[in-house]
Amino acid sequence: MAKKRLVFSFPTSLLDQPITYQLVKRYDLMVNILRARVTPREEGELVVEVSGDKKSLEEGLRFIEEAGVGIKPLAQRIIRHENLCIECTACTSACPTGALLVERPDMRLVFDGEKCIACELCVPTCAYKVMEMVF
Ligand code: SF4
Ligand code: SF4
Repeated sequence: MAKKRLVFSFPTSLLDQPITYQLVKRYDLMVNILRARVTPREEGELVVEVSGDKKSLEEGLRFIEEAGVGIKPLAQRIIRHENLCIECTACTSACPTGALLVERPDMRLVFDGEKCIACELCVPTCAYKVMEMVF
């Protein structure tokens, strides 16, 4: 079983196409949509977790890329400016997934990118602009 967290970008010409559904139907993949939005340029963007057989995952992603969908790893979209952080921990209560948490015993703030779903809730919470979403 392979699993990837990715950002799919759909140009406006593909917005009404059931492309993500094809990953389920044709490639037997599980697609968990973590977040969906329409960008200021009217493009569709999905943050997804896709899992399934490794070969099927590769083939399915190749299929939607060839169909015109942009694919990027989720981790590339999230920047943590660690040098700006004063470790006030305000963001930990805003984060719904535990991606931002205080690690014991030294009580340091850590960011676990694997848990992040790019919900952006931490961005306005942090007065020091430590967390930045790049779109
Ligand atoms: S709210 Fe900002 S400054 Fe405070 S711990 Fe979180 S990232 Fe660091
Ligand atoms: S964007 Fe921020 S609040 Fe949302 S899951 Fe990621 S770290 Fe947590």
